[in-house]
Amino acid sequence: MMDVCPICKAAYAGQGTCHRCKSDLTRFEAIEGDAREELEIAAAAMKQKDYESALLHGKRSCSLKRSKLSERLIFYAKALGK
Ligand SMILES: [Zn+2]
Repeated sequence: MMDVCPICKAAYAGQGTCHRCKSDLTRFEAIEGDAREELEIAAAAMKQKDYESALLHGKRSCSLKRSKLSERLIFYAKALGK
């Protein structure tokens, strides 16, 4: 969940529009949702020990939105997939 507006960095409460700069943030929220979905697929693949798939979906998640969790997942998928 986005906690600040990516345009002006004002606090964001999740109403679809930034209260300060009035930017439409629904597209950003959709991208974040896709990143979360990819991360969930990657995590499920890790549990199945499918490191190739975990790496693929981890990278997709990271390209949509960089996060510590996706970076960590990519690291372990690479390390365990050898
Ligand atoms: Zn803003």
